[in-house]
Amino acid sequence: MDLKEMRPRLKSELGISEVNSGVYSNDWIDNPKGRKINLYSPIDGEFIAGVNGGSKEEYEVMVKNMEENYEKWIKLTSPQRGELIRLIGLELRKNKEKLGRIVSLETGKTVVEGEGEIQEMIDIADFAVGLSRQLYGYEIASERYNHRMYEQWLPLGIVGVITSFNFPSSVWSWNSFIAAVVGNVVVWKPSSKAPLTAISVMNIITRVIKEHHYPEIFSLIAGGGGEVGNLMTSDNRIKLISFTGSVDGGRKVSEAVAKRFGKVILELGGNNASIISDRADINVALKGVAFGALATAGQRCTTTRRIIVQESIYDEFIKKLVNVYSKVKIGNPLEEGVLVGPLIDESAVNNFMKAIEQARHEGGRVLFGGEKLSIKGYEKGFYVKPAIITMPEVSPVSCQETFAPILYVFKYKTIHDAIKIHNAVPQGLSSSIFTTDLREEELFLSPWGSDCGLANVNTATAGAEIGGAFGGEKETGGGRESGSDAWKSYARRQTVTINWGRDIPLSQGIKFDIK
Ligand code: NAD
Repeated sequence: MDLKEMRPRLKSELGISEVNSGVYSNDWIDNPKGRKINLYSPIDGEFIAGVNGGSKEEYEVMVKNMEENYEKWIKLTSPQRGELIRLIGLELRKNKEKLGRIVSLETGKTVVEGEGEIQEMIDIADFAVGLSRQLYGYEIASERYNHRMYEQWLPLGIVGVITSFNFPSSVWSWNSFIAAVVGNVVVWKPSSKAPLTAISVMNIITRVIKEHHYPEIFSLIAGGGGEVGNLMTSDNRIKLISFTGSVDGGRKVSEAVAKRFGKVILELGGNNASIISDRADINVALKGVAFGALATAGQRCTTTRRIIVQESIYDEFIKKLVNVYSKVKIGNPLEEGVLVGPLIDESAVNNFMKAIEQARHEGGRVLFGGEKLSIKGYEKGFYVKPAIITMPEVSPVSCQETFAPILYVFKYKTIHDAIKIHNAVPQGLSSSIFTTDLREEELFLSPWGSDCGLANVNTATAGAEIGGAFGGEKETGGGRESGSDAWKSYARRQTVTINWGRDIPLSQGIKFDIK
């Protein structure tokens, strides 16, 4: 696919110009006064477009508008709100290919992954539509005669969603479509590394909102974390901040929001491992590890960063894995057959190189890759050769998340040793075991097993479905998004007690007789 031709066509089809407004509040605000962000494609290092970020003044206008829009939105029933999300889902279906290409152009994802990003938005839209008729609470048996007790879930108000570059729109939709059917309105701060996908998505979604005369429930403000991000995290009017990003960023966000007793959902870094048992189906394990470690060029929160291999199959498995790696095509992610595209920017490449150096220092042996790559015709792109590094033991480098394709390999004797190595890192997002042994699998899923939010058996750490609650433990932050009952995070629980009798009996049998 010719990037030179694709750029202008895509931009005009998605309403992106050379310099874009990065603030949407009931409409795009002309020429906002925040920091200007210039965007270069990681594929070829060429300029794509500029975005004018928002300033404090525009932020204030936006929040005031959202307060008014919220008042209108909560007057609609939840199924009526679901109807808007259904219409949005239909429009996303029509634009899946174009939006997918913008994701690829901006983040360097392969074509299928770019489209997969939009498919995930469509899936969560469908989920949210169904959910809009299933927002239930419990009825509780009251100890008092002629009393009824139940709990209801009410919207919070304005929800702030801060997203990372690597899922530039799907993570927003996991939060926003669910938050919207619950009755909230949403302010979105996309990553400064990937605001164009966000702008394209907003162009499409807000067209649907206007066409069908719904309140403007979604707004967007581009800008840096320390600027716009800070405005949001310190603002009492934003009742919940859902933050997806690094552990360092999440720590700052969590402190700022806790100071004002706001709510947070934290979706932070992972350091995910797969255990490869001697009883694994080796072909399944090889495919699972290759996908987990290499998809999105190792830039998924759920990327497989470590494998822990049983000693009796260690040599054979690594040999086969190196062979698989050597066949993987790296290059322009828009080309057919390419499985690994570029990293997001130069600093990601530098972090990759630094981690490899550190791993060597800590006794690691690089079996494959670990270098910068220059791809013919794309010399200004940010390409690396994915690394496989054997490690003698758990050491600092393998305890940190380097957002790049580095796979650390450990050896184990017993399954208990494997689980110990597995849980020895500060993050707790995703995990997997490859085994056909029921006892090993059950041990891995027991309270003594994986300490992560996601546990997979005979499949990769990466590639979660929207139907389950997504998120992780420990430094990953404890948040849950997307499916199952994660919708409850976007609501406040109210316990209701109704006395429909002619007396007022008190709980715990307390008497308070007024003569
Ligand atoms: P990042 O932390 O650099 O930035 C994420 C977002 O936070 C950006 O929009 C950024 O502008 C904003 N931000 C940064 N500091 C902030 C602050 N102090 N206040 C408010 N906002 C702030 O992360 P990134 O490089 O864009 O993304 C990669 C990271 O995200 C990795 O660590 C990855 O594991 C993580 N991630 C986690 C999940 C998950 O669900 N657990 C999903 C995707 C990505």
